[in-house]
Amino acid sequence: MGKLFGTNGIRGVPGEDMSVEFVAEVGRALGTYFKKGPILLGRDGRASSLAVSKALASGLMFSGLEVRDAELVPTPCLQYAVKKLGYEGGVMVTASHNPPKYNGIKVMGGDGVEVSREDELKIEEIYLEKKFRKVKWDEIGEVKLEHRAIDEYLNGVIGLVNADEIRRGDFRLIMDIGNGAQAVAAPHMAERLGVKVLTLNGNVDPSFTGRGPEPTPDTLSAMRRAVKELGYDLGVGYDGDGDRAIFCDDKGEAYWGDITGALILDYLLSKSPGSRVVTTVSSSQLIGIVAEKHGSKLIYTKVGSVDVSRAMIEHGALFGIEENGGWFYSPHIPVRDGCMSTALILEVLSKGEDSLSERMVSLPKFYKMKVKVECPEGMKGEVVDKVARASRGRIESVDGMKVWLDERSWVLVRASGTEPLIRIYAESDDEPTVKRIVDEYKEIVEDLIKKNAGSSREA
Ligand code: MG
Repeated sequence: MGKLFGTNGIRGVPGEDMSVEFVAEVGRALGTYFKKGPILLGRDGRASSLAVSKALASGLMFSGLEVRDAELVPTPCLQYAVKKLGYEGGVMVTASHNPPKYNGIKVMGGDGVEVSREDELKIEEIYLEKKFRKVKWDEIGEVKLEHRAIDEYLNGVIGLVNADEIRRGDFRLIMDIGNGAQAVAAPHMAERLGVKVLTLNGNVDPSFTGRGPEPTPDTLSAMRRAVKELGYDLGVGYDGDGDRAIFCDDKGEAYWGDITGALILDYLLSKSPGSRVVTTVSSSQLIGIVAEKHGSKLIYTKVGSVDVSRAMIEHGALFGIEENGGWFYSPHIPVRDGCMSTALILEVLSKGEDSLSERMVSLPKFYKMKVKVECPEGMKGEVVDKVARASRGRIESVDGMKVWLDERSWVLVRASGTEPLIRIYAESDDEPTVKRIVDEYKEIVEDLIKKNAGSSREA
């Protein structure tokens, strides 16, 4: 593993490219970077998570740091507990929504937010140059259990919504936990809010045998059917470590996070007009429309949750939205959080009598499509540049290139940060138009890759 951090922490397959020596050295690098403890450690329910967290703890202790272990918790719970309980930093062992064999390490500062890209480079440098802090035998740290994390987390979330009003709503909610880490928190939160909960895949299972660790409108089909057939008010599906949430309405219709996020944003901005909002360039223009309605400034970032968190801190933003179901609510903590998202949508539903489906219909309708094209790693940047040069329209280049083709239609062409792929996204208020845009740009990208491959062979 040359470069330690990807777009979302350190990832690998334990026993393959993530050895015990590697993990312990990462622990030593983190101990050297943090300088002092205590550090709060947490893990998801993957088969390798306990082993990875023990090796990390050893590395941290050998650097002279005290470690406290919150054990199995959702990522946002660990993050909130770091901030609330006054830890110097936090380390979470999780590969989020990746397949079961993967694992990963996420590093949080004392504010509970993932460390900045600059700090990732500092940690990388310590690791690569082996500049580890060494302590004497009697300065080696200890690990003890931290049992307060889940309670603090749920108290924090519930304290930010009108719990009495939600209780009066008598809501019925289906939670598809996806065998992930929210099993230990989200159902308890819903109970405390007086919500009648039915859980699907509610046991922690290292193989994610239920529906897999990634919630999408497709993978949540069982939940959607159950909500509709059993007459529940809504459904929510979480990812493996519980920071992302995808919702469906009473009719079983599921939406991406930027669409339901726009509904929540409309509510939050009606209470705090003019507050700043952050989203990624791939999000729906619906967010821009809602922000404008309330006189709010919308800041676009690259695709990636750390970019959203850091931009929120920099601009003092109230709310952040990712299309994959990540919502960031600053009064809680500017990181994405499945429990906070669920509490917020319940609060919105508790205002007035309209069902979630009625509320969703009231939003302007947009159509979005996404495709990917395989592209050799070394060619990705050049292809994106050439697409930009061949395009007419207003171009934004926050991440890849986004071209506004008319008032209500855009296309985004960007290189994947982790895979040899070019991703093409398009959105329009007209369904045939979005299909036409995607087809057209897919052809342009494929042609450029073919031509590039041809010219590099000739050279
Ligand atoms: Mg996640």
